[in-house]
Amino acid sequence: MEIIVLIFIFVFGAIVGSFLNVVILRKNTGESIIWDSSHCFSCGKNLKPRDLVPIFSFVFSRGRCRYCGSKISWQYPAVEALTGVLALGVYLKYLPLQYSTFDMAVWAWLMSLFYFAAFSALLLVAVYDYKRKIIDTHFIIIFSVCAVVPWIFWHQPNLSDFVSSFLIAAFFYLMWRLSDGRWMGRGDANLALPLALFLGWPLNIMMLLASFWLGGIAGIFLLLFKNSKFGLKSEIPFGPFLALGAVIVWYASSFFESFFW
Ligand SMILES: [Zn+2]
Repeated sequence: MEIIVLIFIFVFGAIVGSFLNVVILRKNTGESIIWDSSHCFSCGKNLKPRDLVPIFSFVFSRGRCRYCGSKISWQYPAVEALTGVLALGVYLKYLPLQYSTFDMAVWAWLMSLFYFAAFSALLLVAVYDYKRKIIDTHFIIIFSVCAVVPWIFWHQPNLSDFVSSFLIAAFFYLMWRLSDGRWMGRGDANLALPLALFLGWPLNIMMLLASFWLGGIAGIFLLLFKNSKFGLKSEIPFGPFLALGAVIVWYASSFFESFFW
């Protein structure tokens, strides 16, 4: 029974992921996110429902348009699978089905849905930054609105949360100013603040460390497997590492709590 639930949660996440793909794709292009039907970029043919099944359509068409044979970006199945994994991860953290009392179960479902929404917004920030090298302000606002919710319901912030978060944001802001945008972008500072406030002290400093570790590891990989796309000088957007660092630290927070305090 449990495995069916897990599959259902993953499929739910993947369907949300296919919507996130549309948002990323059509942001700032003038196309409506809701009203324009999906079509192939090469031949313009409108896609049928069987072309729009998350992950499966891509796999069965071997990553090509069924009508004109042009290649489809691997971003689509990747975002769908990532969102599915995100949904699974949040579900497994709260396990809303384990509660026998109604109140507790509702509470756990709400928490799960909330965190899934917040991280989906973060995924939008990360993928858009990866693609366009811009941290989109609208996506940050969506995340920030989500980030305020835990303050209201289950985690009143204290002074150390605020002070540490503003220091972390100031650190990014300084890196941006000192490097003229070569090490960090302005958007990274804008993203770091709501992320740090969302996690609170001391998880926010762990997010900082984790994101630099992840960015460093990715940088070493790029040096080892240098290809034409990422030269030494070319900038790697930092937003995805911040987002990933935040999610990892959040996910592992109960682990940290049991070990450090
Ligand atoms: Zn086509």
